[in-house]
Amino acid sequence: MESADSPPGRLIVLGGGIASLSAAFYASAPGHESVFPGGIHVYEMTEMLGGKGASRRSDSHFVKNRIEEHGLHVWFGSYDNAFSLLASCHAYLEGEAQTNGYQRWSSSLRDIEDGFRPSSRIGLMDYDGASWLPWVADFPEDSTTRPWDERALDEKFGSPSDLVTRALRLAEAFLYSLAGRSIAGVKPRSVFLDIEDVPIPIQLPPATWISDTFDRLLSSPETATAGAEAIGKVLEILARVSTELRNRLDEPVRRHSSLRRGWQLVDVLLAAVRGLINDGVVSMGDFSLIDEFDLRAWLVFHGASEESVSSSLLKVLAYDLPFAYAAGAAEEPLISAAVGVYGLFRLLLTYRGAVMWKLNAGMGEIVFAPIYEALVRRGVEFHFGHEVQEIHLDGREHRATKISFKQRASLIAKMPLAVVSVQTGPLAGELPYWTSTLDEGKVPDDIDLGRHDMVVYGLPVGTILRVIPSAPKRWQDCAHKVKTVSTACIQLWLNAPVQHYAPWASPDITVGGYTEPFDTWSDMHTLAGERYQPGAGAVRSVAYFCNVAPDGYTNAQLKEEVRTFLGAGIAAMWPAYRPEMAVDCFLKLNDDASSRYTLSVPGTLHARLSPRDDSIRNVRPVGDWTRTSISAGCVESAVISGMLAATQLRPDRPLTIYGERL
Ligand SMILES: Cc1cc2nc3c(=O)[nH]c(=O)nc-3n(C[C@H](O)[C@H](O)[C@H](O)COP(=O)(O)OP(=O)(O)OC[C@H]3O[C@@H](n4cnc5c(N)ncnc54)[C@H](O)[C@@H]3O)c2cc1C
Repeated sequence: MESADSPPGRLIVLGGGIASLSAAFYASAPGHESVFPGGIHVYEMTEMLGGKGASRRSDSHFVKNRIEEHGLHVWFGSYDNAFSLLASCHAYLEGEAQTNGYQRWSSSLRDIEDGFRPSSRIGLMDYDGASWLPWVADFPEDSTTRPWDERALDEKFGSPSDLVTRALRLAEAFLYSLAGRSIAGVKPRSVFLDIEDVPIPIQLPPATWISDTFDRLLSSPETATAGAEAIGKVLEILARVSTELRNRLDEPVRRHSSLRRGWQLVDVLLAAVRGLINDGVVSMGDFSLIDEFDLRAWLVFHGASEESVSSSLLKVLAYDLPFAYAAGAAEEPLISAAVGVYGLFRLLLTYRGAVMWKLNAGMGEIVFAPIYEALVRRGVEFHFGHEVQEIHLDGREHRATKISFKQRASLIAKMPLAVVSVQTGPLAGELPYWTSTLDEGKVPDDIDLGRHDMVVYGLPVGTILRVIPSAPKRWQDCAHKVKTVSTACIQLWLNAPVQHYAPWASPDITVGGYTEPFDTWSDMHTLAGERYQPGAGAVRSVAYFCNVAPDGYTNAQLKEEVRTFLGAGIAAMWPAYRPEMAVDCFLKLNDDASSRYTLSVPGTLHARLSPRDDSIRNVRPVGDWTRTSISAGCVESAVISGMLAATQLRPDRPLTIYGERL
């Protein structure tokens, strides 16, 4: 039993997800020994790190050392903070290797560059009422920047007015490409490459006039008074341009699918800009003003057409990718307009290098192994197999006094992690990975918290009511209001390359908007390290599918649906697929409190706890369910959450958090 008079000042981090690890990494920066003389300790109930982002390797009958993920994970080029966390881990470990002779666990993954590759091709499945039409869009890449490059300190970034200026510039570029022209000096970030073949005669204001006017007037010193007038002017112009476009484009747009898609994006962008201005988000600098609305309904209210808000682009980016379906019901798409529009704008307008980045192996290897290694090197202690049962509170003092664990033998993870030998590709060499072959440890001791101990609560939102039965009201409100949803995922190993079963597609593509039960598919053919058993034939591609799953969904239903889906349902997306192409399959239903995906349902933003909340004085909540600039179920939001908590735990180490107003 650890007693209250044990050395003062421990940092107890509960949970081994990315939010906890982000907090632990920044809290363990140089000088941590004097802030937490009792050390930094991470307690995780499973045998590995990563939580909803975890992956492990294990052998199947056909595929040796296959990667098994919690679900499809891609990173977006707008994940400044998540990339920066990983880049800092590598920089720290390389520094140790060069100056202190430290030997790194991996011979091949030594730099963030080794772990990711740009991925710009997105496919959308469009249903025209009779059949499915795949449509492939290439998002522009810029090889001169990377999402882990430091941003210039003076770069305006992420505020409502900054995002509106960026949205206006994108809308202008699209408008000009719709009219068959391009704006000098503005690279049309058009994904509709063939639009320029079908110009339409529309009258537009001079090139970047709208965005320049908006930007100039908003940044003038007299913004408070001049701003309102400027905004009014911009709104007037937007209304005129939209009406003219709608009138003139109606006919050609209906006839030509590229035009229709281009117009739909412009329509959505302009409606979002109008909404952000009209609803006071720009003038008040506060996205939460529109939190009570669903994104689609809000866009329609601000002038977007029903057709535009039902487009597959919006469905994929704002609903399918963030699993935004209440209770997992396909007919109930629901996402807060505040979270949806902010997320969309960050994703489309602030990315660097490429819109999406894919991992060259599993999340466990590319993300969690290097963070684990860096933390171990810094002296952080890990306790796997420790399931928190309860946090006991002293109600009068609003403090946590004791943490108790489930009384069963814990697990001891290997350290360093075992390595898999990767033969080819960017990770050729030795790559540390997570496996489930572990030893049993001792039964965990409860922790009595001393006056100087601090706790980071990095467990999922669904655990709060059980783990802290007497939680303060703010915590209880959060637990009741922030909803989660089950997800179902398939990994399919195939003996044919993508073009053999989906001739319209290409390797590395990510496709959304398809029908249930699996609306999203991503090709992961480059997964490193697999070795295939004789008899399986060569594995030439790996397909990941994922989707929400309705409440109450079972593993038996998942198996049955996968059988039907691969039997017939997939035909419209993979017209040349034959069952004998499938070599191996891994299914995962994430339906327990710890693994359900965190939603951003309208009207719940204020219920999210701040990572700096001190209603339990010695506990800081972190996770993708807390309040950040993003406030959504994604790696970037979870990393920001951990960083926000770290700024309180280590006030001596100020942090730059991109896109977050501190
Ligand atoms: C199927 C799926 C696909 C996704 N795809 C993407 C994607 O492509 N891109 C993206 O950015 N995000 C994606 N996400 C979201 C992303 O994975 C999460 O937002 C992120 O991992 C959340 O991190 P976290 O630290 O907040 O929580 P978690 O990862 O849930 O971490 C919580 C940790 O606490 C542990 N724990 C739980 N209960 C206890 C207990 N009682 N005692 C001790 N430990 C406990 C858990 O084991 C876990 O390790 C996806 C999520 C899912 C479910």
